[in-house]
Amino acid sequence: MTIKKDNFDADVVVVGGGIIGGSFACLLGQAGLKVILLDAGVRQVNSLKKVDARVFAITRASEHILKKAGAWRRLNENDIACFRKMHVWDENGLGEINFDSASICQPTMGYIISHQVIIDALQERLLDMENVRCIWSASAAFIKNEKTSMLLETEDGLQFRSKLVVAADGSNSKIRSLANIHYQKHDYKQSALACVVTTEYPHKEIARQRFLKRGPLAFLPMIDPYQSAIVWSTSPNHARQLKEIDKSTFHFELADAFANELGEIKESSERIVFPLSRAQAEHYVQPRLALIGDSAHTVHPLAGLGANLGLLDAAALAEVVIDSVSRERDPGRLQVLRRYERWRKGENHNVMYLMDGFKHLFENQTQSVQWLRNFGLDMVDSLPIAKHLIMKRAMGLNGDLPKFANVQNN
Ligand SMILES: Cc1cc2nc3c(=O)[nH]c(=O)nc-3n(C[C@H](O)[C@H](O)[C@H](O)COP(=O)(O)OP(=O)(O)OC[C@H]3O[C@@H](n4cnc5c(N)ncnc54)[C@H](O)[C@@H]3O)c2cc1C
Repeated sequence: MTIKKDNFDADVVVVGGGIIGGSFACLLGQAGLKVILLDAGVRQVNSLKKVDARVFAITRASEHILKKAGAWRRLNENDIACFRKMHVWDENGLGEINFDSASICQPTMGYIISHQVIIDALQERLLDMENVRCIWSASAAFIKNEKTSMLLETEDGLQFRSKLVVAADGSNSKIRSLANIHYQKHDYKQSALACVVTTEYPHKEIARQRFLKRGPLAFLPMIDPYQSAIVWSTSPNHARQLKEIDKSTFHFELADAFANELGEIKESSERIVFPLSRAQAEHYVQPRLALIGDSAHTVHPLAGLGANLGLLDAAALAEVVIDSVSRERDPGRLQVLRRYERWRKGENHNVMYLMDGFKHLFENQTQSVQWLRNFGLDMVDSLPIAKHLIMKRAMGLNGDLPKFANVQNN
């Protein structure tokens, strides 16, 4: 079915200008599609004047997507920290595993970049594109499938007609609930505390994660050799206590929980706490509607994969939509959108349950399981082929990647 070029305000309306919606809109904009991006928040220009506790561990595949979106070159070199090695170990036992990007001839395993720095780069890129219109302080409130188009209305009564609406409005997605798509959520009964700390010893560009009884504690290296972003997953009560205690007690507890791996904690930023859950939407698509990023799924942050999975959704859907428009086909048709759903839903599901498996394995305090996991860590550590496969997969260097994510595809 071909589609007439009249009566549309845009080819695609994207709801949500976070890292996922922003990247998706950039990819479509670069391909010449007419896009409207709506975000409920206020646009903040160069907002990073203070330390941002929320950071992303960006894989090589995500780096490539941000390059293709035209946002990577807008990042300042001083805002991109590399991690070249990774060290993971268990509180109970001597088992450990070490990864090194040099062992697979790669310059880095990935990057640590603050959330706001990426948002600023994406917004700068979006404002440069004449075919993309960004509207801030605009909350999507109503959608109606009118067969040949989708009507979207904001709380302020603005109306837009497009061939496709893409929901990138986060885990509490309004669009998902307006479309009556069930979101199956599992509460981990855990929270994550995040902040940026200054340590006594340098991090040497190594990402470190120690599995504790109540959850993993990660130190992610920042550009300053003595600064790391921490993500401490623990019980909600413990996270609340850690947020409320005074700085020096917090510094002591954190260094102790991390077995003083980087020495004393000298300074720390504001502490923020997030509740943790895993969730997956029953459907990612309906006629003229698709969900991407956290609106479609959330995972445990223990492998820092949430935004990376969302970026792969954005890249896969962009490829499918651009391909359909280039053949003068209607990108809002269910058959077209199902290609995206088939591609991403199973993959996200597998990662979600893999994270669940790790979480339960490391929280189990039974002695036989403790022995088994320490043995397993050492075993994988001593098998270079298995280790290289795990590394390549985690870095986004292999798998069924969209072309915008494929590092070989320049
Ligand atoms: C503690 C913690 C640590 C994490 N660490 C990592 C990590 O290291 N690496 C990683 O990859 N991921 C990490 N994640 C996950 C990551 O933060 C999310 O996966 C990612 O931010 C999702 O992006 P998004 O654009 O889908 O949603 P969001 O970032 O939630 O953006 C949604 C956007 O939609 C807008 N919006 C909402 N409702 C409406 C509406 N009705 N109308 C218009 N606009 C609307 C909002 O204003 C917002 O801008 C972490 C998460 C947690 C909790």
